[in-house]
Amino acid sequence: MKKQFIAGNWKMNLTMNDAKDLARRLCNEAVNSDAVDVGVFPAFVFLRDICEILHTSKVYVGAQNMYMEKSGAFTGEVSGAMLRDVGCTHVIIGHSERRTIFQETNAMINSKIKAALSCGLSPILCVGERQEERDAGKTSEVIGNQLTEGLAGLTSEQIKELTIAYEPVWAIGTGNTATPEQANEVHAFIRNILESKHGNDTAQCIRIQYGGSVNSKNANELLGQPEIDGALVGGASLDPKSFLDIVYEAVRLS
Ligand code: PEP
Repeated sequence: MKKQFIAGNWKMNLTMNDAKDLARRLCNEAVNSDAVDVGVFPAFVFLRDICEILHTSKVYVGAQNMYMEKSGAFTGEVSGAMLRDVGCTHVIIGHSERRTIFQETNAMINSKIKAALSCGLSPILCVGERQEERDAGKTSEVIGNQLTEGLAGLTSEQIKELTIAYEPVWAIGTGNTATPEQANEVHAFIRNILESKHGNDTAQCIRIQYGGSVNSKNANELLGQPEIDGALVGGASLDPKSFLDIVYEAVRLS
């Protein structure tokens, strides 16, 4: 069993004070277990403060997105080097909200992953099918394309730096979690693709998180699946107790 990685995607939520309180709570609680990795992904404007609060803890801090260029006339965007500069170690790339609302393509996501790696950030690449794609029996095709195009041109060594998050779009923020079996099946499919393209060693190294309405009640069953190596948690990561309960569930299973 791999070390589980529990990540909290705070999205465009919280005030600065609330974000700092949440970070302090995570810092003070026993999130410093070596048994699991924990990370939080606040909004850009909170990153520096949250990095300062958590830098003595083992909780990773990352951004929810970045731009693929190093610097220049890209109004409103943030580069990987800027994220490193404020203390981030991770970045989420290709979240379904970025793909859907901001029209990010697999090609853009691929450029962002390369840019993140080149400045020492560990990307979490999100993949997942929409409800209509699942209903049409296209889950494998969609996820296969997202992986193939998203990881194009990366070496196996680079791919080992990544975490993949399988997040069925129909399960995000809806309360409709994939069943543990559904999730495990797609995770196994993802690992098979990684193995066929990049070898068994790479496929076995990579952690595949499940995301989509994970909470303290369903975490045990989901995280107990053999192919699930952690969770990317949205809504439940805003409540310290819920998030910590998920973390402790991962510690118990380790
Ligand atoms: C997410 O946005 O990555 C997510 C999984 O959200 P939620 O847990 O709220 O479904």
